[in-house]
Parts: sequence; structure tokens; C-alpha cells
Amino acid sequence: LEIQMPYPFNKPINEPVRDYGPGSSEKETLKQKINELKTQRIEVPLIINGQDYKTEDTSTINIPHDHSSSLGNFHKAGKNEVNLAIESSMDAWDSWSKIDLNERCAIFNKAADLLSTKWRDTINAATMLNMSKNVYQSEIDAACEMIDFFRFNSWYAYELSKQQPMYSLEFVKNSLEMRSLEGFIFAVSPFNFASIGGNLPSSPALMGNVALWKPASSAVLPAYYIMKLLQEAGLPDGVINFIPGSGSKIGPQVMDSPNLAGIHFTGSTTVFKGMWETIGKNINKYKSYPRIVGETGGKDFCIAHESANIEVLTTAMIRGAFEYQGQKCSAMSRAYIPSSIWPTLKDLLLDEVEKITVGSPEDFTNFMNAVIDRPAYESIKEYIEICKSSSDAEIISGGNCDDTKGYFIEPTIVLTSNPKFRTMCEEIFGPVLTIFTYDPKDWSKTLDLIDNTSDYALTGCVISDNKDAILEAKNTLNHAAGNFYINDKPTGAVVGQQPFGGSRASGTNDKAGSMFNLIRWVSMRTIKEVLDSPKDYRYPFMDES
Ligand code: NAD
Repeated sequence: LEIQMPYPFNKPINEPVRDYGPGSSEKETLKQKINELKTQRIEVPLIINGQDYKTEDTSTINIPHDHSSSLGNFHKAGKNEVNLAIESSMDAWDSWSKIDLNERCAIFNKAADLLSTKWRDTINAATMLNMSKNVYQSEIDAACEMIDFFRFNSWYAYELSKQQPMYSLEFVKNSLEMRSLEGFIFAVSPFNFASIGGNLPSSPALMGNVALWKPASSAVLPAYYIMKLLQEAGLPDGVINFIPGSGSKIGPQVMDSPNLAGIHFTGSTTVFKGMWETIGKNINKYKSYPRIVGETGGKDFCIAHESANIEVLTTAMIRGAFEYQGQKCSAMSRAYIPSSIWPTLKDLLLDEVEKITVGSPEDFTNFMNAVIDRPAYESIKEYIEICKSSSDAEIISGGNCDDTKGYFIEPTIVLTSNPKFRTMCEEIFGPVLTIFTYDPKDWSKTLDLIDNTSDYALTGCVISDNKDAILEAKNTLNHAAGNFYINDKPTGAVVGQQPFGGSRASGTNDKAGSMFNLIRWVSMRTIKEVLDSPKDYRYPFMDES
């Protein structure tokens, strides 16, 4: 019963981000891959127990910046396929849950190596086309973050296995086994991050679990390629079953299974609360208490102090609010600016924002691209209309939407006189930043205001050159953000460096990209082995002579 966990690999470092500079071979091969994916007309099947399944029910794989074209079709899971996927998962669980950690890590490290090399262009091109991400946004997500999840999680799995109880070599040996959960994990992913999609089924699988993976319908292609990559890396059949389709149909069926052992979700707060409710109603059906892990929406803030460096603040605002069209759970969407610096900031900010280029990611000169689909476009447009018609708000930059070719929305800045205006409180999930200016004398009051304005508590940042102000912001906003940034934008968490997640309505805060997420996917067994076992039930106190 000796616990020996030799590390079979070195502590990882973050995957270097390629810059795709002019004339580089990396830019050239990526462009070739983009053209290839646009002409191939793929048909994405379900993958259950390693086999492709096609159904009668299909949808198109869209290109948000060019909605009259598509990349092909994907097949959607119906009742039979979901049942098959559950059965196959449970069969795979029998052997996979007993496989040694070394072997499991070897597969995910191999996946990281393949993504870093052979699969990089394919997965980046699919992300750029199907999700409308520029090359940099795609590279930091679908390539680097996915690789980091695979490598760092493998490392953290070893770190966890080293957490062993005290034992006395002479008489007693104690150990903790990191067993998988008993059943399957339902991994449900959002459209906006390919790497989150890949991580949701993979992190439980690394810990010996099996998973059903339902990707978002608007971003199926990168998810499919990640699935193919995992198969090539040697993931045994059935460990992850890939079942695209309608969440509202697949979800209730999956959550009805007695073998549901956990939910690994990222997406909107409403959907997550609905799933939690379903699990609550079904609680007597399950063999064990399902682990519920969900990272959800945000209304992420920026508080600038009078001492803020204006260039730092402007950069944080533009990158934080508008990269990937503001479709990040961490996107800055409300900013609190002291009135004393507002005139200077306004000049620089508006001057820069007006230069932002919006268009297809296939044209590498564009900073921003299209929003994901028509419902997103309409919903963001509606928020902009509300701002246009309200006496509490004024659009000071952008505000135009154009869906002639793709779902394009200008980077939009709203100035409001009402700190509780709708766009200061609700998640918009688009390129809309609302600014409220405050009297610098009200610094402390403004911190309280931020804390009490929205239901969410995901990310936030303070921009200041004053140490005392930073400390006060950090303390007052203790529960207002799970990821708090000082003199930086509130987006761009890196695996292994800034474990990610928020509380309140933003999720269970189980910190993706850290060992604290992995611990949710194990059910530990304690083993005590006695080497010199007692042979008489009587204790010494019972002896009076
Ligand atoms: P969404 O909630 O609309 O969809 C997420 C997934 O849930 C999709 O796969 C969808 O098909 C599925 N789904 C829908 N109804 C379901 C049901 N009844 N049962 C089971 N599954 C169901 O979210 P989205 O639009 O894809 O993503 C945007 C949201 O995700 C935003 O709110 C954003 O803040 C959030 N997000 C959060 C984080 C984070 O780490 N906190 C990261 C990325 C995105």
C-alpha cells in the first residue's frame, strides 16, 4: 500500500502564444487551413463509444460574419442516442475508473502535444470561422488555453495525489485514494470558448470519470475537432461521448438518469439555475449526490481612481470591453470614472475606439468581428435601442448594428447618469460598455455602489497609482469578484496563473485551471492498514490492580 507517485513529466509552462506576424509561415499555413475548412462542407456526427452516429435531425454550422454561407452540418442527438451514450459511458467507466493516473495523464499530455503541433491550425481555423474570433483571440483560447488545461490539469492531478494523511510507519499506514465519482458527468459547454468546451469533459475524465459532452450548437466545429484530437491522443472509446443537439431536449433526459454523478457546466445563469432545479427535483432518483459545478454570467466592473494612468485605463477599457465583441463572461461592461479625469479620458478613449476595425476574422487587420448569431445580435441591439431612447443614457460612441452580411455591432460606449441603469446591472454579452462618472470625493461610496449594483460577482478591476486606494478597493470589493485585477483589464485569465471563477450569481467558483476544480471530480477513499493489530478488546483502564 505504498503511495508512490513519480512525476512522469516536468512541471508545465504556459504554451507560448504565436503572433502570426506578417509573412510568417504560421500565418500562411493557418490561412490555407481556413480556405480548406470553408470548402470541405463537413458533416459532423455524434461520437458514441468511438463510433460516428448520424441522425435525421441536423443543423448548419454557421459563420457569424457571413451568414449566407456555412461550413457544413452537424447531427443532433435524439432520445435513442442519449440513451446509448449513457449506456456506453457506464460501460467505459468500469475500466477507465481503474486505470492508473500515469496512463490518464499520458493521454492528455499527448493531446496537448498534438494540439501544439499537428492540430493547431485546424482548431484555430475552426474557431475563427465558426465562432468569429480574430486570430489572436482564437490562439489564446483554442490553442494555448486548451493546451494549458491539458498539461496543468495533469500536473495538478499529481499534486492532489500527494495530499496524504499522517501515518506512523511502525503501526499504521493511512492513505487517501482519489477515486472517480460513481456514474457519469454531464459536461455542457457555452459557445464562446473552445477551450472551456474541451475542458468541461476532460478535467473529470482525467480524474477517472466518464463524461457526456454536449457542446453549444453555435460552436460545434471546434468542439468536434477537439473530440477528434482526444481520440487520436488515445482516449479510450466511451470515456467522452460527444452528443451535440438541443440543450433543452438532451438536458432533462440526461438529468433523469440514476447514474448522473455530476454536472460540469459553463454558460448562462438562467440555464444553470434551471439545471440545478431539475437535479433538486430528481434527487431521490440518483445513486449518489451529483456534484454541481457551474461557471455562469458576469457584469464585470472597472473602477478608476483619480490617480489612474490614462493610457493604462484606456487600454484596459478597450481590450476588456471589446475583445471578442464583449462576448466573454469576464468582459468589462460597467466602468466607474472620477469626473476629474473624465474629460481627458473621454478624448483619448473615443479617439481610439473610433479607429477600431470591425469585420471578418479572415481579414487579419480587423480587431473585432461578428457576434455569434441572430438571437445574440437582436438581444444586444435591443439593449442599444433602450440606451438610445432613455433620458438616463447617451451613446457617446458606436451604437450602429449591421446584419447585411454578418452579425456586426460597433463597439458601443454609453454614458449614464443613473448608476442603476439597466446596462449597469444586466449582462448584455456584447460590445457595449456603460460608464458612470462619480465625484472623486465619493470614492468609498462608489466602491459600495459597485458591490451592490449587480447580482453577479465574476471579475473586476481597479486602475490606480495610489496604493491606499487599491487596498481599499480590494477590501471593499472582497465578494464582488472571484477574479480581481489591479491595473489590468478584467479578462484574459491564464491557466496555472489566475484560477478562474466567480461567486454570487456567477457560479460555484470552483476555479477552472487549478487543482480546486479537479477535487470536485473525485470521491476519496481513506484506507487504514494496521500493522500490529490489537488482539484483546480490554483497555488498560479496566485493570484496577
Ligand atoms: P447558454 O446558457 O445559452 O448555453 C450554454 C449551454 O447550455 C449550451 O450548450 C446550451 O445548449 C445548453 N443548454 C441550454 N439549455 C439547457 C438545458 N435546459 N439543459 C441542459 N443544457 C442546456 O450560454 P451561451 O450563450 O452558450 O454562453 C454565454 C453565457 O456563458 C454567458 O452568460 C457567459 O457569461 C457565460 N460564460 C461563463 C463563463 C465563466 O467561466 N463564468 C465562461 C464562458 C461563458
